[in-house]
Amino acid sequence: MSRVHIDWTACDGRGLCAELLPELLAEDEWGYPVARGDMNVPPALEPAARQAVDRCPALALKLVSARSA
Ligand code: SF4
Repeated sequence: MSRVHIDWTACDGRGLCAELLPELLAEDEWGYPVARGDMNVPPALEPAARQAVDRCPALALKLVSARSA
């Protein structure tokens, strides 16, 4: 399973990822993403997660291997 990682130094808070992946991300009042849970991506959400990664204008999102910890 993969997990969404946000590079906070790159994110410019346009909120696109929260629109594309509302199951995992909410948007705060400034447009920055807020995790709704542990950011692990269930298989059914992999396509949406990949789309969010591909469309992030700041290249701030990536999918990493989820670690059980
Ligand atoms: S789409 Fe990218 S730049 Fe925009 S809020 Fe999400 S992580 Fe930040």
